Amino acid sequence: MATKKDYYEILGVSRNATPEEIKKAYRKLALQYHPDRHPPEKKKWAEEKFKEISEAYEVLMDPEKRRLYDMYGHEGVQPHFREGGFTWQDFTHFDDLRDIFRGTGFESLFEDLFETFGIRTTGARRRTVRRETQVRGEDIRITIPLTLEEIAKGARKKVRLTRYERCTECGGTGSKSGQRSTCTTCGGTGMIQTRSRMFMFDMVRTVTCPDCEGRGWTIFDPCPVCHGTGRVKKTTMIEIEIPRGIKEGQYFTLRGQGHAGPWGGPHGDLFVMIQEKPHPVFRRKGDDLEMDLEIPYSVAVLGGKVEVRDLFGRKLTFRVAPGTQSHTVYRLKGKGMPRLEGGQGDLYVRVIIHVPKKVSGEYRKLLEELRKYEDGRASSNDASVKNRFKEVFGSG
Ligand SMILES: [Zn+2]
Ligand SMILES: [Zn+2]
Repeated sequence: MATKKDYYEILGVSRNATPEEIKKAYRKLALQYHPDRHPPEKKKWAEEKFKEISEAYEVLMDPEKRRLYDMYGHEGVQPHFREGGFTWQDFTHFDDLRDIFRGTGFESLFEDLFETFGIRTTGARRRTVRRETQVRGEDIRITIPLTLEEIAKGARKKVRLTRYERCTECGGTGSKSGQRSTCTTCGGTGMIQTRSRMFMFDMVRTVTCPDCEGRGWTIFDPCPVCHGTGRVKKTTMIEIEIPRGIKEGQYFTLRGQGHAGPWGGPHGDLFVMIQEKPHPVFRRKGDDLEMDLEIPYSVAVLGGKVEVRDLFGRKLTFRVAPGTQSHTVYRLKGKGMPRLEGGQGDLYVRVIIHVPKKVSGEYRKLLEELRKYEDGRASSNDASVKNRFKEVFGSG
């Protein structure tokens, strides 16, 4: 109890945060810890985090619970939760979660998430749970390379997948006749007992039946197409919707899009990881974008209006201040990457003074005029300045 983390700290808000601020912080964290956005080995961790922020949210959004927490700490709110602490049954803000995930592309996974947590939400579809000894198909991981434009706009991508599909010849049973026979080794239980002597004890262990691999049945006439497995490898095209604003290395999960299980077992999941293709103009820093813009020397000195195009190809103009040094960075607010949770990051434009490699015609004449003028100015000053100009410009 004493080691429990502070609710305000968990959400990263101050002790006098308004409900709006708490809501905003929770929203951000909920999107971050959605278990489907993490690889399988981090799912448990993400679920724990998700639960932790939800507990904090539950308490801080309720004036009475918050008052008790502020006065007595965790012990003050404990009576409001089940014995043993907060559980998802104590959570009363599922509608907020529904709003948070609406339109993010994770929406369809929403119900699955709470099914995982054992929660029924209003209007939740009830999935038929087959408690047979079905073998689930393996998960598949793929990486999808995307351009920044695709990430910014959200994209639908066609992906070629080679995966196990249910054998249509035998309907997934694996048997030519569609018949299964009860395994004679285990009598259909899928388990057998083995006895062995260890030290001074007789050990009786229950292990998976080796003949039917725990299924409880065997096939006498294997299907010639799938060789009795009930599934065959096929290449299919599937369309994947990419949530806008997703980041490099982030995962999302498409349930039931992995390999079909053997003998009619359910499909595994498909884990999609995003890989950003390098962009010729923009560099991404989180939700912000950076770019370089070459400007003429005259604009840097005198100041002036310049134009860039954002990631969506829209024209943006801004003013460069007189006397701007090369590599000065200008920030164009809200013109960066769209955020997963709404809004946009910023666009940072680094202006670089352009030095032409070759000049001719009118341009050359004007520059030579400029040089004469600068030389003249140098000669009017003291000798050291004059020498420096000579060094830089040569003796013209
Ligand atoms: Zn078959
Ligand atoms: Zn068996």
